[in-house]
Amino acid sequence: MKKINLSIKTNIFISMLSLTLVMIGILWTLQGIFFSSLYKATKENDIERASNLIVDSIGTENIEVTINQIVDEYDLCIQVFMCKDASVLYSPECKSNGCIIHQLTNDGLYYHWLNGINNSENGIFSEISNAENGDDFLVLTRLVTDTKGEVYLLVLNASVEPVQATISAVRAMLILISVLFLVSATVISLILSKRLSSPIINMNNNAKRLARADYNIEFNTDGPIEIRELAKTLNITTRELGKLDSMQKELIANISHDLRTPLTMISGYAEVMRDIPDENTNENLQVIIDEAARLTSLVNDLLNVSKLQAGTQTMNIQRMNLTRAVANTVERYSHFKEHNDFTITFEYDSEVYINADEIRLLQVIYNLINNAINYTGIDKTVIVTQTVENDVVRISVKDSGEGIKEEDLPLIWDRYYKVDKIHKRAVIGTGLGLSIVKNILLLHGSRFGVSSEIHKGSVFWFEFKITD
Ligand code: ADP
Repeated sequence: MKKINLSIKTNIFISMLSLTLVMIGILWTLQGIFFSSLYKATKENDIERASNLIVDSIGTENIEVTINQIVDEYDLCIQVFMCKDASVLYSPECKSNGCIIHQLTNDGLYYHWLNGINNSENGIFSEISNAENGDDFLVLTRLVTDTKGEVYLLVLNASVEPVQATISAVRAMLILISVLFLVSATVISLILSKRLSSPIINMNNNAKRLARADYNIEFNTDGPIEIRELAKTLNITTRELGKLDSMQKELIANISHDLRTPLTMISGYAEVMRDIPDENTNENLQVIIDEAARLTSLVNDLLNVSKLQAGTQTMNIQRMNLTRAVANTVERYSHFKEHNDFTITFEYDSEVYINADEIRLLQVIYNLINNAINYTGIDKTVIVTQTVENDVVRISVKDSGEGIKEEDLPLIWDRYYKVDKIHKRAVIGTGLGLSIVKNILLLHGSRFGVSSEIHKGSVFWFEFKITD
């Protein structure tokens, strides 16, 4: 189906106008269908009420006054017959043009009405059509007995054809209502469409700037709730994208710098060893090997984080001894950092097994311990603890460093995020370590977190369900 390109303004305008036209249509249709039956029902009601009033005052002195009042008030024609001699008792002059009973003036009239009447207390209605003009009339005939036992025949009549004046009045009213509807619908839809569309148009212009990587924009948070919410979300997104953009630029600068340092060392040492035979020593070779290892670990980190984020890494979940894995990593570190006076301890009660991808989990343990060593305080102490509660094991890595500010806590797990570069020891830091930790733990469905106090240190932890 072909898409119709209409602006939101035109859409609202057309919808409102269509709705109004439909409502006007319904109004006119209802008027056409129901007006005559409604008019007839009203007349029937009037005749019934008038006949009750006459019945109440029949045989009293007020009867004539009552009948005249009814004729004036209800626009009806009335005749009252005495049944004992079939004579006309009252036949007030008829003021309405909807009269049929005064036109039927012949002697047999009484019998005409009496014919077909039954003893129904409220009388019976009959409809008569005027043979000349086809107009319909409603006639009520009713037998009444007064307190003295005298019997009367009441005949009341009204035309059920609405008079032209009534029809014209209703028409004029409907035309007025239709015009008012159309005018107000046009004005309201114009105002509404402008009010609704202008924040969206505004937002669209800003979104186009955002698509061109312009992060110095502010979405206007005016307008309806949904638009305000959208503007707030887009403002947050813009800020985050801006942050990510500068972090990425910073990362490229960092990585270039970090890659250049070991590369300079490697090429420098290699050249010296080539040119000066005496410098061809194992120590110099070790420098080249160490620098190559630093390069490898940096490149591995970068690869890991992009693979984890792209979700292309397959997991190899197997039963593994978590306690041993932590103990071995701590052991390796204690040995490696001995000459720097680091104290890394591992406290645990018993060995526990979990289901996990061992290689990835070792990355987690390694990264947390590595960070703790890099950021711990002057006592150079890191405490790793294993606690077991019910069937859940928790590994916590505690350092005594500067801690992390509360506002930074949710951000440190993001890619490229680095809080502070001053206190960090001379180790390559890419801001990728915790992002790798987070993604691996998420893939395992583990709970993890950090608690930190400024100047006291941080505790990073993660949990796993114990298996038998
Ligand atoms: P990096 O390579 O910079 O250490 P990470 O992703 O491992 O990257 O950590 C992100 C940031 O979180 C770090 O730059 C540091 O500011 C903060 N951080 C991580 N671990 C600790 C810790 N144990 N104590 C204090 N700050 C930490």
